[in-house]
Amino acid sequence: MTWLVTGGAGFIGSHFVHTALAACDETLVNLDKLTYAGHLANLTSLQHDPRHVFVQGDIGDLALVERLLTQHQPRAVVNFAAESHVDRSIHGPEDFIQTNVVGTFHLLEAARGYWQALTPQDQNAFRFVHVSTDEVYGSLGPHDPPFVETNAYKPNSPYSSSKAASDHLVRAWHHTYGVPVLTTHCSNNYGPRHFPEKLIPLVILNALEGKPLPVYGKGENVRDWIHVDDYAEGLIAVATRGQPGKTYLLGGNAERRNIDVVTAICTIMDRLVPAGAPHARLITYVTDRPGHDFRYAIDCSLIGRELGWRPRETFESGLEKTVRWYLDNRPWWEAVRSGQYRGERLGLSL
Ligand code: NAD
Repeated sequence: MTWLVTGGAGFIGSHFVHTALAACDETLVNLDKLTYAGHLANLTSLQHDPRHVFVQGDIGDLALVERLLTQHQPRAVVNFAAESHVDRSIHGPEDFIQTNVVGTFHLLEAARGYWQALTPQDQNAFRFVHVSTDEVYGSLGPHDPPFVETNAYKPNSPYSSSKAASDHLVRAWHHTYGVPVLTTHCSNNYGPRHFPEKLIPLVILNALEGKPLPVYGKGENVRDWIHVDDYAEGLIAVATRGQPGKTYLLGGNAERRNIDVVTAICTIMDRLVPAGAPHARLITYVTDRPGHDFRYAIDCSLIGRELGWRPRETFESGLEKTVRWYLDNRPWWEAVRSGQYRGERLGLSL
């Protein structure tokens, strides 16, 4: 049995690859373009695992994807590949349209052609899992109920609108052609190997180095946080037991204001690496992100009822483990920060 995973050298994708290989007896073909966010060191421990086949390439390369599907005959495609950082989408949206929209279109077309040529039995067993985001539902007010699967789409950023566009393509490929797709919408992931431009790793590393801890606006924006290993397990549940055509929401049951997340990291750092003065003194409020969504929140009761999945990690324990991981894995983030990992690619074959 084989799965084709795209974007599996990134943050969530690499956790999924590790979790799936530990949990299932599958071969994973991992197609990743290795943009700035793709990091082969995330996969180093799999270097000698014959069940992991790494291919550097673009989901928008139709001929390549068709060849991989024909060659490896996967029974599932799990699509993580995306441009994923909201701030980058504001400064340069084009890559987001290319990968998230056009790339997903080509991936879907390749999957459709492959799926249509399968036997009826294999067609029934095939799954295309599209990894979307809760951001497609737009912004909640402080007292609004959390998102559910039936919420209307109201994306506000170039990132979330490009993800929303890809979701609509995925939905249409099911409705029109019958491709057995499933879509997941998840809240903010955190955990080891998170690229240090994102809030939690940025704050951990800046605090360690005594640098300012930037907080947008007044720090009152609210996000739900889920440990990345919980999400990886949820995705396996969706891929193996989910109902084609359905959408599943996953979250960590941990809504926090940004300022509370930053303060919690400072408190952990004060205990683990005391700096003579509280790390919270480094908190610096910066001009808010344009169009910054106020709040995202997730009601993940449907997947709990239907697939028996629920998050296991609490935010407090998960955050402490994450801080400890960054303290213990300096070579990983130093290489990422210096850009050194980009040069390593050529010499590293996985
Ligand atoms: P990431 O930026 O860490 O990783 C993205 C990966 O995709 C990288 O390895 C990159 O090299 C690869 N990639 C980019 N363009 C590609 C292309 N054209 N072809 C092949 N590979 C390409 O992202 P992440 O945080 O791991 O997010 C993974 C998915 O989960 C994304 O689709 C994102 O929208 C979604 N998501 C993320 C979060 C979060 O909190 N990080 C929350 C909800 C949903």
